[in-house]
Amino acid sequence: MRVLVLNCGSSSVKWRLYDGADAVDGGLVERVSDHGAAVRELLSTVDVRGIDAVGHRMVHGGLRFTAPTLIDDAVVEQVTELIPLAPLHNPPNLAGVREARRLLEDTAQVAVFDTAFHRTIPPENATYAIDSEVARRHGVARYGFHGTSHAYVARRTAELLAKPEAHIITLHLGNGASACAVRGGRSFATSMGLTPLEGLVMGTRSGDIDPAVIFHLHRVAGMSIDDIDALLNSRSGLRGLCGDNDMREVLRRREAGDERAALAFDVYCARVKTYVGAYFALLGRVDAITFTAGVGENAPAVREACLSGLEGLGIVVDPALNGSSRTTISKKESAVAVFVIPTDEEREIARQAAELISAQGSQTR
Ligand code: ADP
Repeated sequence: MRVLVLNCGSSSVKWRLYDGADAVDGGLVERVSDHGAAVRELLSTVDVRGIDAVGHRMVHGGLRFTAPTLIDDAVVEQVTELIPLAPLHNPPNLAGVREARRLLEDTAQVAVFDTAFHRTIPPENATYAIDSEVARRHGVARYGFHGTSHAYVARRTAELLAKPEAHIITLHLGNGASACAVRGGRSFATSMGLTPLEGLVMGTRSGDIDPAVIFHLHRVAGMSIDDIDALLNSRSGLRGLCGDNDMREVLRRREAGDERAALAFDVYCARVKTYVGAYFALLGRVDAITFTAGVGENAPAVREACLSGLEGLGIVVDPALNGSSRTTISKKESAVAVFVIPTDEEREIARQAAELISAQGSQTR
């Protein structure tokens, strides 16, 4: 089966062409302002003959979309209604969908949602403790994000353990960052919430704060809601703490003795450790912890600091393995295996799209 994957991000279009499990072509268009035009351009150069489906990365599927979905007008309309929950992401995703549907009208188009993997989270881990009527009316709930990535690395982890029912903590540490507790291949808890702002410290996002910080900044510092939104989303996290949002730069400055960079690093890693402990408690037992994404895959110092001092929980990282580019970085005696697994959201989207198309094919036969 040939599947074209389109990942229209806020300022880029990433694409891959899969033939079965093989990525046979792909590319990245950056600094994109018109996603429709970018998709038009790439579809005019890519050999799209014989493709069976286009798999679209969709960020926000609300509570409605729990699985990959064949796109029709109703789906486009429903995803459009969710724009207020993901104003930066759903519009470019939809622009890609519109253009691909127009240019490849006889090809099945499949939406794979970042939020779908988290629809198995039980109510006690997905419900905010606010007035339930207000929450219901305004859709205030934990949706969770990075689902495609967490699903992919959790499945790879379970394969490595040869244990489908494994309890796993997946740590996606990229520009955005989130943790996920996975039980038997299903999301059980995750750190991002209504939006991708909650949870871990990120490149430019604060992650968890006391919500009263917002009231305080509004009432005492006279900041508007939009000012505070920009502060927490764009001028916080590593950037807010030390001026740099790229972990490579934070690590370099920390090595050189820069105190602000050292504090940013410490706050970042302490937050990850807090979630590891919390998810350990929620899961009861943990078979493996898996690091992924730009920071998780490439920064041994971060991995070490996030899991240091957790021997009491049976988590023992081997410094030599951690410093090499191995998949397994825990010591033999570690009760919890620790892995580094490169994420591959496009491959997962292709897999899910192909699975849906095959299932539909066998239904209609
Ligand atoms: P996105 O969330 O946009 O998909 P990535 O998963 O590619 O991002 O992560 C990007 C981030 O990974 C960069 O901002 C940088 O902080 C970090 N990163 C990339 N390479 C390294 C490295 N060698 N060491 C530390 N951090 C790295």
